[in-house]
Amino acid sequence: MTEKTTSKYERVLCTHCEGAGCIYCEKTGYVLVLAPARRCRHCDGDGCIYCGFTGWAGLKGRYDE
Ligand SMILES: [Zn+2]
Ligand SMILES: [Zn+2]
Repeated sequence: MTEKTTSKYERVLCTHCEGAGCIYCEKTGYVLVLAPARRCRHCDGDGCIYCGFTGWAGLKGRYDE
């Protein structure tokens, strides 16, 4: 049995497109990440598979499943 957590998310600028909109942020220019928002430690914000190419750690969606 899993209990759904009610973690707070922050809306942050997608570092891949810097707000222009791309496939990684669903063309919104922003992504939701677990608060407090932190840069991905794998790529330091450059974008990699661990952060879904958004440059942020704790990306929402990857945690939902
Ligand atoms: Zn983007
Ligand atoms: Zn990364």
